[in-house]
Order: sequence, then structure tokens, then C-alpha cells
Amino acid sequence: MMQHVARVVAQPSSTTIGQRIHALAARLYPLNRSITGEGVRQSLDILGESIHLERHEVPTGTTAFDWTVPKEWGIRGGFIKDPSGRTIVDFAHSNLHVMGYSMPVHDTLSLEALKPHLHTLPEQPDLIPYRTSYYTEDWGFCLAHRDFLALPEGDYEVRIDSVLFDGHLTYGEALHRGESGRDVLLSTHICHPSLANDNCAGLAVLTFVAAALKERRTRYTYRFLFAPGTIGALVWLSRNEQALERIDHGLVLACIGDNGGPTYKKTRNGHATIDRIAACMRLDDGKRIEITDFTPYGYDERQFNAPGFQLPIGQLQRSRHGTFPEYHTSADNLDFIRPEHMEASFRMVMDMIDALESNWVPLNLYPKGEPQLGRRGLYAAMGGQKDAGVAMAFLWVLNLADGDHSLLDIAERADMAFSTVERAADLLLQHGLLSRLCDA
Ligand code: ZN
Repeated sequence: MMQHVARVVAQPSSTTIGQRIHALAARLYPLNRSITGEGVRQSLDILGESIHLERHEVPTGTTAFDWTVPKEWGIRGGFIKDPSGRTIVDFAHSNLHVMGYSMPVHDTLSLEALKPHLHTLPEQPDLIPYRTSYYTEDWGFCLAHRDFLALPEGDYEVRIDSVLFDGHLTYGEALHRGESGRDVLLSTHICHPSLANDNCAGLAVLTFVAAALKERRTRYTYRFLFAPGTIGALVWLSRNEQALERIDHGLVLACIGDNGGPTYKKTRNGHATIDRIAACMRLDDGKRIEITDFTPYGYDERQFNAPGFQLPIGQLQRSRHGTFPEYHTSADNLDFIRPEHMEASFRMVMDMIDALESNWVPLNLYPKGEPQLGRRGLYAAMGGQKDAGVAMAFLWVLNLADGDHSLLDIAERADMAFSTVERAADLLLQHGLLSRLCDA
């Protein structure tokens, strides 16, 4: 089975894997993604350069449970000109300036008439907010509150050169086939425009995970889903309902590139294997993932954990959804996401996959007392002196290797990183002190 993929992928080279993930996020950042449209297709084209992505086009009007695929949205530009004719807001400078799904408009309005269509953040007066109106026909502009306050009285020319038409919703899916006939779903949204943490980071990290798995033999089949939030996930669920029974584990990635967290949100039932694995993860400095309970708010884990599906799918993020001040503003830019954080996120997902792939049930072949570890050179093999942590990992594995405990059970009981327990068990196996009873 798979051996510590993250370490294999991250062989020393002139650029770190974190830098390469950041570079991919930077290519995605300028594109004008929404729940439909060319920005999604262009993003999938870029992701498709490194993984084999199947693109699905679902026509406007298609129903998915209680929802219907909306008209496709396209936009060429949008601006506001002040009473002197000066362009003061321009889509060409930031795609956040036009509210997502804005209807076309070309009009001249007084400041009073224009104001209901202007969105700002009075508490963060230098930032442009991110707003959408997918399911209510409207148009609007987003701008810095400081600029809004400086608007003089007079007539403003507004123009949004957009189209709403019977088109398609687009999503991409990559498949890595495993040997067991059981599936793991890994998903991230692809519907936010120039927002780096809340979209580009997840797209980039998940693409690197899919690329890293490409050459591996795995127990599970991995489905990588890049779909617009909510409607995209629901469309995918409705088209794959027969196959959902095969999904044993899953993870939604979002906001995975900033310096907070990491945070893992549990599945609805809170005791899924993926929940237990997340609790046994450690960062390089030994730090744990912060674990939070399920809430029916956030990203597409909401849909996957709906009562009609109850899929065992948790959610991994760095700072918690909506709690960082840059969230849904122009400050969620490429400086806000860092290579080292995305590399740590990538490693964490790969470690979680390692735990899914290499959880097994050991049986102690020397159960009468403790076998003598020192004379077998085991402490040196574990990479160091006879320190307490290493010794404890051996002792816990030997003690709980009664045929009733998996490595994950042991990691939980010992309150240790899964990777430490796994490594100790591998060494004990190599030295003939354990046998491998079965996969868990
Ligand atoms: Zn968002």
C-alpha cells in the first residue's frame, strides 16, 4: 500500500511544493469564477494540465432535488462614471467590483438612486466586499467604503455588460481508481472569483493531492470534485445518487492557505473514521488540528451531511470559515495565502489519506510480557535514542496488538499521532514481533 506520499512528492528541488501550489493558486486568482460561466471552464482547463479532469456540462433548467440549475452568467465589463465622466469603479481592475450574477444595465442615475446598488464594508473602509445575487434578479457594484463616502452629488453613468442565458453549469471530476471498490470523496468549490484563500488555495491544494495520488496503488478509489458551491454539489449528488453507497470517507477543503488553524469540522454523526483520523493528526511541530463539531453551515459538507445522504464527509480548513477579517473581501488576496501554509495543508491531507490507506490490525506474537526491544535495535530504527515517546509508541502497539485494535484505535488510546503509531507498528512487524491480522 501507499507509503507516506507527501514525503515522496516533496523531494528537495529548487522550488518547494508549497511554492508550486502557490503558483497554481496565483494562475487561478485573476479568473472571474461564478457558479456558472467561462471562469469555471478556464479554471478547470488550468487544473486539467496536471490531472486528468472530466468536465461535465449540465444545462440550465436541470433540477437537482429542490434546486434548479440557473441561467449561465457571462460578463465582459462593468463601470461607474462619476458626474465629471471619470471612471471610479471598473470591473477590469477587480472582478469583485461587480456583484456576481448582475443583470445587464446601462443607465444614468442620481447618487440617491445609485446607492441601493452599491455595497461597501463600513467597518473595513479600504476593502472591496464580495457579493453575489444568484437567485434574485439584481445588479450591483462593490467598492471601498472610503471611495463611497467621497462620491459627489450628481448623475452617474453605470454600465454592466453581462449576459444571462440558457447555458450550462460546469463542474470537473477526477478519478483515481483503487482496489477495494470503496470510495473516498475529496471536494472543493470552484465558484468564487478573485478570492485567494476562499477558493484558489483549495483548488490548488486538491489538484496537488490528485496529482500525488496518480502513480500510487491505493486501496480506495478517490473521487476529486471541483464543483460550484451548493448547486454544483447538489447536481453532482443528484447525478451520482446510485454510487453514494460506495463512499466510506470524504473531506471538503476550503480556506486552506492562510496562517490560522488548521481546523477540522466533524461529520454530522461526529464518530466517522475520518473524524477519528483528523484527531490523530499532528503538524510537523507536533501541534494538533483544532477539531470542531458539525454545524449545518459552511461549505458543501452541508449538502453531503444532509439527512438524506449522511455521508461521512468532514471539512478541513485553516482559519475557520467566516472568522478571518479578510473573508469575502479584496484582502483575501495572494499575499494572504502562503506557500508554507498550503504545503502544510497538502501534507495534512496526504497524511489523512495515508491513515485511511494504512490502518491495519496487528497481533502481538510475543504477548507474554514485554519482548526485549533494545537488543533488537528497534530504538535506533525509530530514528533516535531510547526517548520516552518512541518507547511509548512501541509499548502501546505491543500492548494493544491483541487482534481487537486497529492502528487508529491504538493512536487514539495512546493519544499519539497516527504516523508515529504506524511507524512503530511497521518496525515491530519487520522485526517479527507482530503479524498483520487484517486491514482495518
Ligand atoms: Zn465563500
